[in-house]
Amino acid sequence: MQEIKCLAISPGIAVGPLFFYSTTVIKAEKQAAADPEQEIRCLEEAIEQAKVDLQAVLENSRKDLAGEAEIFEAHLMVLDDPVLLEQVAEDIRGLGVNAEYAWQQGMEKFAEMMASMEDEYMAARAADVRDVSQRVLRVLAGEQQDGRSLAQPSIIVAHELTPSDTVTFDRSKVLAFCTAEGGPTSHVSILSKALGIPAVSGLGQYMEQLRQASTAVVDGSAGKVILNPDEATQRTYISRRAALDEKFKRAFQETTRPAVTRDGKQVEVVANIGSVKDAREAVKYGAEGVGLLRTEFLFLDRTEPPTEEEQYSVYRQILEVFGDRPVVARTLDIGGDKPASYLHMNEELNPFLGVRGARLELQHEELMIPQLRALLRAGEGHNLKIMFPMISTIGEIRQANEYVRRVKGELEASGTPYARNAEIGIMVEVPSAAINADILAKEVDFFSIGTNDLSQYTLAGDRTNPHVAHLADSMDPSVLRLIGMVCKAAHEAGIWVGLCGELGGEVIAAPVLLGLGVDELSMNPRAIPFVKEQIRRYTVEEAQRIASHVLGLSSAADIRAYLTSLLPDGG
Ligand code: PEP
Ligand code: MG
Repeated sequence: MQEIKCLAISPGIAVGPLFFYSTTVIKAEKQAAADPEQEIRCLEEAIEQAKVDLQAVLENSRKDLAGEAEIFEAHLMVLDDPVLLEQVAEDIRGLGVNAEYAWQQGMEKFAEMMASMEDEYMAARAADVRDVSQRVLRVLAGEQQDGRSLAQPSIIVAHELTPSDTVTFDRSKVLAFCTAEGGPTSHVSILSKALGIPAVSGLGQYMEQLRQASTAVVDGSAGKVILNPDEATQRTYISRRAALDEKFKRAFQETTRPAVTRDGKQVEVVANIGSVKDAREAVKYGAEGVGLLRTEFLFLDRTEPPTEEEQYSVYRQILEVFGDRPVVARTLDIGGDKPASYLHMNEELNPFLGVRGARLELQHEELMIPQLRALLRAGEGHNLKIMFPMISTIGEIRQANEYVRRVKGELEASGTPYARNAEIGIMVEVPSAAINADILAKEVDFFSIGTNDLSQYTLAGDRTNPHVAHLADSMDPSVLRLIGMVCKAAHEAGIWVGLCGELGGEVIAAPVLLGLGVDELSMNPRAIPFVKEQIRRYTVEEAQRIASHVLGLSSAADIRAYLTSLLPDGG
């Protein structure tokens, strides 16, 4: 049994077997084989193992993926080809090379031969041959297989996970994610929370130990992994998980009721979403609208940007889910850790300080105009609000507002229906915007504080770098003080303030944010039942006292300890 302290990036507890997920293509090095016969035996065993794995995947995919099954059938056929193995074995003996290298070379030759065939079907099988080749190489390297291959519910271990990796897994078989990279506000964390999957990160130096372990406990709330837990430990965590589930069920029963403080103030509790599916989920969890629609999910993992019509259709469907309730759509926020290949962006030394968010859109009219048109058209008859990300100066707001005026003018002129009264706001996520909030407030209808970026920029801690992610804690007094300043400036200017960073979904933060004057809290939908429950426990005055107390504390750790002690069960 070995206990590892790591970063907590998505709450919850999991107990189960580990599954190594590798996205890197294995490239075998050529080596002289000391014992060619032994190499051949290893290869035969690896092929047998790959077949067993494939068979399990095949059965599972027949059960729940249907369309995927034939891919795995084709893979099995490749592995069953005796001529292929014979050829590779001859190379191992004849050239005296290692199994990995001979296998890779033999399979590549085979794939190239297939690819050159006239018959389109056969040519397409080249990809299957390469997939199978990698599958066997992974077994030889002691790694496990790709995301579709989960034969049983497992804890996924990976160096890093992209948003598309994270959603490719069969949700019902993923118990937890453990990654080397990615901080508490990274996109792996955001997606895991949205899927309700516990996750931890910062495990880079422990990858070898994880590889050698068979089972583990993952505590995504405390930031802990226990390798090869004994039975008593497993039982403890299984019952903790049951208690958590029970707590959630209780909060969930009340979640469609509004979050009203004991003295009668209602706090708007809304959701962070990224798709139509999320929108439906959010309503189920009690969202009273959307505080952050991350539209970039429409723009990533594709070879060209979505058209105005495609965007319109998605935005419209989302707005329809919420009827007349507010939906705050954020315009495209790519750049930083979310690149888009079709933009051919220059390599940047510091992408988070580079061309991202509004900076990028303001340079790319061909992205800005269709998106604003699609949003404004879709918002007609609904309660749409639009906000711009990564604003750092008043000049950027004025430019963005100019685009809105232009698009509205064009829609008006062509007689196209659109949301005439859509409020226009900005994300406050760069320290300059927070410090100048009184100046910027005059230009917009609302603010939404993005604590994920505000923390990384205030504390100069890259949110995706696990070695410094602990610095970028949104509970740091510097960040809370900025939130207080933004609320004060906004209210003095007569505009409202939301908060949509991950801090908004932290149960212990609720009284502080209420006390600082945040009007709307937006979060991953699964956090809504707990946050509403927490708001109902306080009066505004109590919350203000808590907020002013924490602003006097000296570190994020002290603030967290104090706020945790206020929870009914002490955390
Ligand atoms: C934020 O920065 O807090 C935010 C909500 O935006 P994102 O996490 O998408 O950068
Ligand atoms: Mg942000």
